[in-house]
Amino acid sequence: MEKKLSIDTLCVRAGYEPGKGGPRQMPIIQSTTFKYENSDQMGRLFDLEDSGYFYTRLQNPTCDMVAARIAALEGGVGALLTSSGQAANFFACFNICEAGSHMISLSDIYGGTFNLFGTTLKKLGIDVTFMNADASDEEFEAAFRPETKLVFGEALSNPGVRVLDIERIARIAHSHGVPLIVDNTFPTPVHCRPFEWGADIVTHSTTKYMDGHGTTVGGCIVDSGNFDWEAHADRFPGLTTPDPSYHGLTYTKKFGKLAYITKAVSQLMRDLGSQQSPQNAFYLNLGLQTLHLRVRRQAGTALQVARSLEEHPAVAWVRYPGLKSDPDYLRAQKYMPDGTCGVMAFGLKGDRAFANRFMDALRLVTIETHVADCYSCILHPASHTHRQLSDEQLREAGIPADLMRLSIGLEAASDLIDDISHAIEVAEGKAEAVPVSPVVPGLGQL
Ligand SMILES: *Cc1c(COP(=O)(O)O)cnc(C)c1O
Repeated sequence: MEKKLSIDTLCVRAGYEPGKGGPRQMPIIQSTTFKYENSDQMGRLFDLEDSGYFYTRLQNPTCDMVAARIAALEGGVGALLTSSGQAANFFACFNICEAGSHMISLSDIYGGTFNLFGTTLKKLGIDVTFMNADASDEEFEAAFRPETKLVFGEALSNPGVRVLDIERIARIAHSHGVPLIVDNTFPTPVHCRPFEWGADIVTHSTTKYMDGHGTTVGGCIVDSGNFDWEAHADRFPGLTTPDPSYHGLTYTKKFGKLAYITKAVSQLMRDLGSQQSPQNAFYLNLGLQTLHLRVRRQAGTALQVARSLEEHPAVAWVRYPGLKSDPDYLRAQKYMPDGTCGVMAFGLKGDRAFANRFMDALRLVTIETHVADCYSCILHPASHTHRQLSDEQLREAGIPADLMRLSIGLEAASDLIDDISHAIEVAEGKAEAVPVSPVVPGLGQL
């Protein structure tokens, strides 16, 4: 029997192997279109009778190789790169929803996804019910309707770092004949593989750890091939009845386990055009080749920083699912036993002014809205993204006024811990602020 390759090897090698004299690194096929020998060959491609590339809006060899690498990492049967994580989540849902459909989403999700579901999908006639992660089975059951098409959640939520109980939510979704879609951006397949726990579709903002260097916005949809669409044919007519835009082809009959992802490529990308560019896919590929090294290191450093924060007298609270004190610790041990991610939330004892003095005194950790790349950064919603809200309104929005989101990069843990504890001392008036960054500048910046 063929031995399964480890995730480390797949990060470096899956999806592309050069032939004789071929380029060692995955090539960028920067071409809009592809040539064929005769009219019949081209016609068969348009009928989805043959596989092959014909136009980069649908598929491009570089994007396809990178998608195949991510599919291998997740243990899926096929994948599709999209122009962003937002596009990935939109198309993952829209592939099986239409006006009149309903979906259920966990409420603790990325703000951009929350807006997409709560505002933009509503305009398309798709209704979304948001559920608290701590809701009971009965409360979840009560949210299902005849027109419900899917359940959505984040494996590790951004920014709350809650751990999704994938097995439980998948069981509930399946008992109602719908798939579970999991956004696996934060743990990445190195730390969590949602398909092994019953999820059916996985999405990614590859902008985060997968790219990992802050260079490229992108997304990915991965199909496990496990959901039996035919068994719930009435609920998913787009997959189980003829598609008039392909001469009456039926995706489940023609493509079997690849029905969902093939429809997303050949129908949604054709009509709505949100492919990733081959150049961007190439940058993503470079990130993927060190993903296993980086996320293990970042989660390890984050755990050390979280422990040091927890012990610091000026820190009011820390949420990091790798900490034993975290309410999701046991769940994290189950779903991501080798580590979680580099992101944590914490609060300092003190008011907004104290938090601002602290952030201004940081030298290595920078103030940014981004997360999950190689640079450590911090964001204080009460002072930044949610600054128009009062403390009371923030509480109502579920964001403590003192919450800071800290994303740990690839710097040394000791340097980051020193930077944070020094900045606390400056905020307390016990130390002098360091005027400039300790990082050595280039000659032109001197
Ligand atoms: C950032 C993010 C997204 C959106 O991704 P973009 O690439 O910025 O469009 C979706 N889900 C999660 C969990 C994210 O962190």
